[in-house]
Amino acid sequence: MIVAERKPFTEIKEMLSGYRKILILGCGTCVSVCMAGGEKEVEILASQIRMAFEKENREIEIKEATIQRQCDREFIETIRKMAGEYEAVLSLACGAGVQFVAELLAPLLILPGLNTRFIGVAEAEGVWSERCRACGDCVLSETAGICPVTICAKSLLNGPCGGTRDGKCEVDKDKDCAWTLIYRRLQEGGKLEKMRKIHPPKKHGVRIYPQRQVNEEFKKEVKSEK
Ligand code: SF4
Ligand code: SF4
Repeated sequence: MIVAERKPFTEIKEMLSGYRKILILGCGTCVSVCMAGGEKEVEILASQIRMAFEKENREIEIKEATIQRQCDREFIETIRKMAGEYEAVLSLACGAGVQFVAELLAPLLILPGLNTRFIGVAEAEGVWSERCRACGDCVLSETAGICPVTICAKSLLNGPCGGTRDGKCEVDKDKDCAWTLIYRRLQEGGKLEKMRKIHPPKKHGVRIYPQRQVNEEFKKEVKSEK
């Protein structure tokens, strides 16, 4: 899932200066799970804004809405007409969602209410942690399911650096060294020989941004239509 956190309230308030009629739009998937941008967070933020504006004798009309995913055209279309009645939309989606809403509802102004952090997991209740940097060339089959790109502070691909001590990372002594974790898990699984494999450097240079992916079935459909 994508993990995000709400922007500081002062920043949000500053973004809204000059607008009197706004729509706060939540997203019902990842950011809802990490308690940053779902229906409940929309409600809380809307109340906070109303109270802050009232205190300063400033007028503001706020509409609250949440769609299932702001990164999906079909859900954005459901709010097109309603969104058009507002001066701006404060989106509580990840950066991808904010951009897609801005693209599809242009020229309507879309403001980001969250800071997008990382791709991660729900480790425990209220705790999320990063697990993948979307490198495009997954090596988890060789590293006992532990991502060296993400979990190692230096993203090392071929074993630990010289700074690892007693299983801890030299960059942050409170964290386990990723390569010690990999070593131990490979050992437990009887696959220690995988430690000998040399991984070539990742070809970051050949990635062209923004990246795009089209499902094979849809490629065929596009061809047959021509
Ligand atoms: S190697 Fe790590 S960063 Fe790359 S795809 Fe796999 S989990 Fe993600
Ligand atoms: S101590 Fe381990 S986790 Fe930390 S930077 Fe070195 S190899 Fe990576």
